[in-house]
Amino acid sequence: MNIGIIGLGLIGGSLGLDLRLQGYRVLGVSRREQTCEQAIACGAVDTASVDLTTLKPADLVIICTHIAAILPTVQQLIPHLSPATVLTDVGSVKVPVVEAIAPLWENFVGGHPMAGKTESGIEAAQKQLFVNNPYVLTPIASTPASAVQIVEEVARSLQAKIYHCRPEDHDRAVSWISHLPVMVSTNLIAACMSESNPEVLTLAQNLASSGFRDTSRVGGGNSELGVMMARYNRQELLRSLQYYRQHLDDLIAIVEQENWEALEQRLKSTHAARTRFLKE
Ligand code: NAP
Repeated sequence: MNIGIIGLGLIGGSLGLDLRLQGYRVLGVSRREQTCEQAIACGAVDTASVDLTTLKPADLVIICTHIAAILPTVQQLIPHLSPATVLTDVGSVKVPVVEAIAPLWENFVGGHPMAGKTESGIEAAQKQLFVNNPYVLTPIASTPASAVQIVEEVARSLQAKIYHCRPEDHDRAVSWISHLPVMVSTNLIAACMSESNPEVLTLAQNLASSGFRDTSRVGGGNSELGVMMARYNRQELLRSLQYYRQHLDDLIAIVEQENWEALEQRLKSTHAARTRFLKE
């Protein structure tokens, strides 16, 4: 199978590295010539160019640009595709993408590989990024089963764990476990920076270790991606932020009232709940 990848960054490049190892022929397209050259040099693609006609022989095209560029990319791509070509994307939000692309291309399957890291761009691409991580597919009633099967086969070859759900359910779920954590983590860093005593601030920065590294990691990442999450998943993000504010207010009240029993109950219950989110 010939697989086209548009947007040779962290996700596009990482997909290319693994798909080539699985024996697929990978045709890449990116915005900048230099990125195409880098992608060829690091083995993420067999061939690459800035020209969408490169993807004419592709059986499957995976769109790996930022969310804002997905629709314009598909509009430019369609004249170069044969009707049997299957399209999928990797965008972190699904409702706006599926609503925009499904009416334009029947063989479109919304997708979201749930893997990433702080760095971005082709330099950050790495092998086995998707192994044992969820890969969500969001087909709708009109999506042909044959198209879903093809995307599933490719996702399975990455050793990812495949999940199917409605685009709406995807966006609400990722708001809880991905988009809200980015906002909470960015706020944690901002709150620490509001320390008014410069000596204490420097001391805190020197003392920060694994706990701070874990809790600040997603807030210190790709800012463009964070803005995209908020822009395209605004309603769900606002909903989860409002719940979060409620929990924060409850926590402040507990500490103000020195209600250590309530605090212990809360910590015990979140300790138990955490394992339900992070199953091995
Ligand atoms: P990234 O590292 O910045 O890669 C995106 C690449 O797309 C850029 O390197 C850019 O390459 C290229 N590009 C931009 N506009 C383009 C266009 N119009 N046509 C062709 N190529 C274009 O970002 P990423 O982290 O891989 O994210 C890409 C997508 O994956 C997003 O939709 C995001 O929601 C999704 N996603 C991200 C993560 C994550 O944790 N990072 C996880 C899952 C899904 P040039 O150098 O050529 O400009």
